[in-house]
This record gives sequence, C-alpha cells and structure tokens, in this order.
Amino acid sequence: MKKVAVVFNGGTISMKVDERLQAAVPSLSGEDIMSLVTGVEDYAKVENHTFSSLPSPHVTPKLMLELSKFVQDLANREDIDGIVVTHGTDTLEETAYFLDLTTNTKKPIVVTGAMRSSSELGYDGPFNLATSICTAISDEAYGRGVLVCFNGELNDSIEVTKANSMALNAFRTPNFGPIGVVDNNNVIFYRKGKKGVKLNPKNMDKDVALIKCVSGMGSEFIDFSLDKGYKGLVIEAMGRGNVHQTMVKGIERAIKEDIHVIIVSRCFEGRVFESYGYEGGGKHLRNMGCIFGDTMPGQKARIKLLAAINSGKTVEEIRGIFEEGLYANH
Ligand code: ASP
Repeated sequence: MKKVAVVFNGGTISMKVDERLQAAVPSLSGEDIMSLVTGVEDYAKVENHTFSSLPSPHVTPKLMLELSKFVQDLANREDIDGIVVTHGTDTLEETAYFLDLTTNTKKPIVVTGAMRSSSELGYDGPFNLATSICTAISDEAYGRGVLVCFNGELNDSIEVTKANSMALNAFRTPNFGPIGVVDNNNVIFYRKGKKGVKLNPKNMDKDVALIKCVSGMGSEFIDFSLDKGYKGLVIEAMGRGNVHQTMVKGIERAIKEDIHVIIVSRCFEGRVFESYGYEGGGKHLRNMGCIFGDTMPGQKARIKLLAAINSGKTVEEIRGIFEEGLYANH
C-alpha cells in the first residue's frame, strides 16, 4: 500500500467557530481532522505532520520557503509516495504555485483545504482531504507538478486561482478549466498541464510590489514602491496590458533603476499582448523593457518574480522565465 505524508498547515479546514467570537478560529489538530476522513486506511497509509495552524492571510513568502524545504525533505524520502498539504484558501494559490516553482520531485504534491469550517453544516475538509489522498497515490498524477484539489476537481497550481469567496468550488482555472477530476475515488486527467520552471531561492529577502491599475492612476504607487526598496513590480494593467500615460514615467524610472517590471492584466481571463502602440499601450511598455506575464493573475506573477529575484536571476533570465515560447523575441 502506498504511503502519503499529510502536512497540516492551518486554514479553515482546521477551524471551529468560537462561541464567544461567533467566528471561526484555528482549533483542530491534524489527528482530529484525519479522524473524520473515514475509510482512507483502505486506500493509503497516512503519516501526519504539523507545519502550522495559521490562517492563510498570515502566511508570508518566508514561510512558503520553509514549507517548500519541509515538503522537499518528505519527497526525498523513499518510503513516501505522495504529499498532501493543507492550507487556508485565501493565499492557497500563492503557496501552491511557490511549491511548484521550488520543489523538485515527480511525486504528486497536492494542496487542499476547506471552504466551510468544522462547525458548519457541509464541512468539506474530509472530502477534500480524501480526494487529495486519492490523487497523491495516483500513478496518473506522477510528474504533474503541484496540484490543487477541491470539490472533486483538480487544477494545475500554475493556473488555479480562488475565484469565489464562499463557494465549495472556489478554485478555478480561468481560460482552460480544471485539469482533471476525482470521481468515485478515481483520478482522471483530461489534459496536460503547463510546463513549469524551477527556481531555487536561498531566502526571500527581496520583495515585489503588486500594483493594480485603475482609471487615471499615475506613477505615485510606483515611486512609493521604489523609494521603499522593492526589487520588482508587478503591474496589473488594463485589458491587453495598457496603463494611463502618466504611469509611464514611473515605469521608466523603475527600468532605469534595474527593477523588473512584469505586466499582467486585471481582466479575469485572457493574456497580455503588445496590441496597442499609444503612450502607455502594451507595445510601448514592452519596447521600454517591461516583461509580459501571459494569463497570470497579479498575485501569482508576484510569486514567480519573487522566487526568480531571490534566486539571483538576471533581467534576461527573468524575461525568459516569463515569456519563453509565449512572445516573439525583440
Ligand atoms: N481565511 C481562511 C484562510 O485562508 C479561509 C480558508 O481557509 O478557507 O485561512
């Protein structure tokens, strides 16, 4: 029988409603949660580990790096066939993608959690854990990088985002849909995932700011970020990747100061492209030296840039990491 390491790491899956606060707080241990996943012993041997009991808004890039090392050590063990990591759903897509970028194994790594706490009717933690364990022991999941499993659906960690603040199927892949499903304990994949890059950050000391464009927004937030010492900027631009012309000055300053500028779109679906040649249009920004981030939402492009910068990658390497095979070379 295959063996799965389950790493408990907080989130709603480990929460109960506190009588006094009338709101959910961390309460359940890994053992408490596993005792609700009845029948799983017929499928896999499970080894429990506790990494944290944090709500995921408290998870930082530094903690993501520690978790990545923890997971890599488990993956290096010969007796472990797959790994499941629990996580609060709010920043789950960031940690899952970070794990994909920074771990090196063909063994399945599956990230899951719950949208309902254990005090609520319809607590989805045990089902999500059970389906994640089925995925972690699946031969089909081998070599697919980090997957996110919720509501019986499997999404590629590179593509997935939290698209609903309350629904059980909160995790979705815009543009392409889920990569597979867990149906009646069987794991079925319908398409290949994207090819992921591997990065090796030594620490997470350098930070990246994320700036979402709104109509009329100028360079103030860019100037603030540069003055504060941020080493990279992700700009969630409008539409195909366009900004107000008064933001161009800030972007020029950033590029002159060797700060990497990634352009993604604030649209939920679709990719950025150099379609527009006016001042602040995508063509103008890319000609200035901005790097395009394809279909990625800003928070995930930030994780990618964080991991790349803290791995000591050069501007050209970072351009390659984001654009290779997606955009014509200049
Ligand atoms: N706020 C919670 C967290 O991210 C939500 C959840 O886990 O679903 O920790």
